Amino acid sequence: MMDSYERNINYLRISVTDLCNLRCRYCMPEKGITKIQHDQILRLEEIYKLAKIFVSLGIKKIRITGGEPLIRKGIINLIENIGKLNKIKDFAMTTNGILLKKYAGNLKNAGLNRVNVSLDTLDQKKYYDVTRGGCLKDVLEGIEEARKVGLAPIKLNTVLISGFNDSEIESFVNLTKYEKIDVRFIELMPIGRTKNWSLDRFISNRIVLEKVKELKKIERKDVSSPAEYYKLPDGRGRVGLISPVSHKFCRNCNRVRLTADGKLKDCLLSDYEIDLKSALRNGGNLKKIIIDSINNKPKEHNLEKGEYVKRNMTAIGG
Ligand code: SAM
Ligand code: SF4
Repeated sequence: MMDSYERNINYLRISVTDLCNLRCRYCMPEKGITKIQHDQILRLEEIYKLAKIFVSLGIKKIRITGGEPLIRKGIINLIENIGKLNKIKDFAMTTNGILLKKYAGNLKNAGLNRVNVSLDTLDQKKYYDVTRGGCLKDVLEGIEEARKVGLAPIKLNTVLISGFNDSEIESFVNLTKYEKIDVRFIELMPIGRTKNWSLDRFISNRIVLEKVKELKKIERKDVSSPAEYYKLPDGRGRVGLISPVSHKFCRNCNRVRLTADGKLKDCLLSDYEIDLKSALRNGGNLKKIIIDSINNKPKEHNLEKGEYVKRNMTAIGG
């Protein structure tokens, strides 16, 4: 599907739940989270129906996200069904990894290709603090299991937080020395009710290149990837920089998002949403609605002008 800026939209991110088993400080406020009412959440068969329509319109890559996708009941079944849609070339999941040890084998058998695991620190105390209660060992064991069953290539997503994990940049980069793993540093985005927390702790991804001078840029294979990739000399894995704030990559954006309550979001950083759930439940012309919406995909986000989205990240899916 081409949008009106000649971007080929071929990537759909599906959030399967707004709930999570962690409470990361940059993603969820401590209190006052109102969860989306149960009957407003898409049923698994509704998600599958929509996925099928998107694939028939040209979507080639699907990522399952959340909230935490592995806490959604029936997730393996959904993965199995979507995995059978044979026009999909890349089928991935973003997870916090807490339940990955338990589910990695099932995910692989159900047809998932690979996982991105979110991990912001390699120190248990700090992990417990930033996630408000998570156990680092669970995540590390989950990554190990994902590697064993072949959910590869594994990518780690590390949100850079000033004064929290900038001291660990070298340790994260060093993970790519001997392991075939990608570590991707993501700039903190001011989103939803944690906007001020994130604004106060933002650091530009430039700091990674300042701290690790040996990193050498790699030629981009996929222009639609938001990450610029680098490598250590002789490194087995790669280091990615995803910089939506300091270097917006809207020009090459190839993605749209389906939220757990059935809204189509053409831009992560815009409040504009199209209600696909109502159309689905009331027999609307979904193909037309989706095509029209993609035609109206905004040219770019306006973070730098102070336009922030109201939804919390956990209700969008990253
Ligand atoms: N629960 C899963 C996880 O943590 O991987 C999937 C959902 S989470 C919302 C998806 C991604 O968004 C994670 O990698 C997380 O670190 C990232 N994220 C959440 N809030 C963010 C923020 N304010 N700025 C940048 N990235 C954020
Ligand atoms: Fe949960 Fe992921 Fe948000 Fe952390 S980043 S609170 S794990 S949804």
